[in-house]
Amino acid sequence: MTRSLVGPALAALNPAALAAKLVGVPPAPAGVTAASFVASFDVEEHHRIEAAADLVVPAALRREYGRRMDLCTRRLLDDLAAAGVTATFFVVGDITRTRPGLIRAIHAAGHEVGSHSWDHRRIHRLTPAEFRDDLRRSKDALEQVIGGPVYGFRAPTFSVVRQTGWAVDILAECGFLYDSSVFPVRHDRYGVPDAPRGPFVAAGHARDILELPLLTYRVAGLNLPVAGGGYFRLFPPAVMRAGLRQAAARPALAVGILYFHPWEFDPDQPRLPLGRVARWRTYVGVGRTTARLRELLRAYPFRRAVDVARELRAVEDSLPRFSVVGEPKERGRAVTVAGAR
Ligand SMILES: [Zn+2]
Repeated sequence: MTRSLVGPALAALNPAALAAKLVGVPPAPAGVTAASFVASFDVEEHHRIEAAADLVVPAALRREYGRRMDLCTRRLLDDLAAAGVTATFFVVGDITRTRPGLIRAIHAAGHEVGSHSWDHRRIHRLTPAEFRDDLRRSKDALEQVIGGPVYGFRAPTFSVVRQTGWAVDILAECGFLYDSSVFPVRHDRYGVPDAPRGPFVAAGHARDILELPLLTYRVAGLNLPVAGGGYFRLFPPAVMRAGLRQAAARPALAVGILYFHPWEFDPDQPRLPLGRVARWRTYVGVGRTTARLRELLRAYPFRRAVDVARELRAVEDSLPRFSVVGEPKERGRAVTVAGAR
């Protein structure tokens, strides 16, 4: 059966009841947004990962990673079709030059194409003017390839943090509907530990944007980053599921955002010459990811982030507002400047 037949059949089910059955929570009452789970994929060639930022990777190996990214992403499209799931793919803009056919295939299969920046530099490495150019360039190039609008953004290495909070203003200015880059955790590379764990309105200096933060699991006073990465590859699937169960239990804002990379489903890829710790972090568990993802896709009623974002925009006044700029003590302070979104 093709995805186009499976998709509507799945959509006809009651997502709240389905979620309740799968994760063991009562269905949301009428009028309250049902649990929404999003499977997102950050599409980048393997050598663009942050751990390899200072490596000089030979051109032949870069081409090989490009080829493998294409193959792995197409296999993911097959797995999604088999499960009748539509997902969100945040794509590095530069890939429009090398693999436009892949991006068109993602779009043609009914998935959302969002921006994952132009060339995968963390926002820390850019000035506000450079970030604006980067965003416009990636959004325009992706829109040319898919022949339609790009609504969402995922920063490389979740690099919307306090230090780069000005990015919120520029995202709003460039016409994005939502951002999905804030990870409410303490981590050595990223994180806004005191940010809300569910959807919120991220306030910048003068504008704001709807934020869909990555899934966390709160236990013993800590937010664990269970949305993907090592928590997906190394820990038992029960840990990610526990995070999804917590997200589903939030009454009106039950949203759980997961993330994966095509290279995480490629156990045979040539390894980058990383240091011992980075090597372990990068490659641990890559042999078991395909089976785990297929199981997840069968178990949860995943939706595209843009569809969730549209629903949330309609009830935006009821969302918490959180200032990403400035000091953590500003949390909860009223933001008086209503931004263009
Ligand atoms: Zn990335």
